[in-house]
Amino acid sequence: MGTSTSYLMNNYAPLPVTFSHGKGIYLWDTDGKQYFDALSGIAVCSLGHSHPAVSEAICQQANTLLHTSNLYHIKQQQQLAKKLCQLAQMDNAFFCNSGAEANEAAIKLARLYGHKKNIQNPQIIVTSNSFHGRTLATLTATGNRKVQAGFEPLMPGFIRVDYNDINAINTIIAQPNHNVVAILVEPIQGEGGVNIPDENYLSQLRQLCDAQQWLLILDEIQTGMCRTGKWFAAQHSNVVADIMTVAKALGNGVPIGACLATREAVQLFQAGNHGSTFGGNPLACSAALATIEVMQEEKLDQQATLRGKQLHQGLHAVLADKPYIRNIRSQGLMLGIELTQNSTELVSIALQEGLLINVTAGNTVRLLPPLIVTDTHIEQLIETLSRIIMQFAEH
Ligand SMILES: *Cc1c(COP(=O)(O)O)cnc(C)c1O
Repeated sequence: MGTSTSYLMNNYAPLPVTFSHGKGIYLWDTDGKQYFDALSGIAVCSLGHSHPAVSEAICQQANTLLHTSNLYHIKQQQQLAKKLCQLAQMDNAFFCNSGAEANEAAIKLARLYGHKKNIQNPQIIVTSNSFHGRTLATLTATGNRKVQAGFEPLMPGFIRVDYNDINAINTIIAQPNHNVVAILVEPIQGEGGVNIPDENYLSQLRQLCDAQQWLLILDEIQTGMCRTGKWFAAQHSNVVADIMTVAKALGNGVPIGACLATREAVQLFQAGNHGSTFGGNPLACSAALATIEVMQEEKLDQQATLRGKQLHQGLHAVLADKPYIRNIRSQGLMLGIELTQNSTELVSIALQEGLLINVTAGNTVRLLPPLIVTDTHIEQLIETLSRIIMQFAEH
């Protein structure tokens, strides 16, 4: 077994805790200690844990039919595609099992679009500090050297510009033979540190893409499914992408991803072009259908706006004037508190206090609580987290 004490590969560095069960916003570890989950398994369990409607849909489907493959029609997949397309103003969908796979599909669509236009060497513009996944194409698209290092050769076909910088893209347009066919961005960067672009950034990208006949690809894997106070974050800017990717919260914990397309991107895949054995199977689609239904019934987009404002205002009131707080950024229930110092230690301090949080980009505390949080939960979160941050930074 080598020097490791585990049969697992060493690619994760898990915190010293194992959870046995969860209900709503709470998790319990194997010693019975209760935790407030302000991370939702990284923006996945937006309905909280063990949501009865999702659990029932999963059980019912498991007792009926788990899997058949995409060699046959799948009724739940067609229903889910229709639902998602209506919510996202898209026309059709491809289903897979993760965010990275959804982005792979988007990248393949962009390349097909380029070849259709007789561009043999199509390029996709991507941004600094982005995160798009861990497959070879998506880690190449990712703007973080740590994600790429050691995995060279990277994939060709990507050009990087600064996030939130329209001029950088204009510079590329000015170059002859740039071969650009698409832009791929997150409406708000999640892993990169909850980076919210200028109000008109997405609409300017939309205009550029229209003028250049490029595809606008929006990675809504973290920002989608009501997280930011709209069904999809680009809807804050009234922007509709040509291709949009979704995953994380889509199945409330059951692995499922989707690549949605409209306009020029709709008919790019032909039979045999792309596929997935598990993608969109009856179990995953049933879980996603149940998740969407609850989100609609409980108006969780509006809830995210309301509770997000409460969380932001509460944290702002206690922390904003502290010298070690650089900035509090949020949209809906996606929130980052940037400190002036490295704050990764806060994750274990919070864990001891029974609170699950995350730190990204070294100095930004990230909160992604379940969208079902009540005002009392938010008060509790503000109280606990601000106390932990003050103790950490002042002692
Ligand atoms: C999490 C994430 C991904 C990757 O999703 P996986 O399911 O881990 O492959 C891609 N893009 C964004 C914006 C994400 O937050």
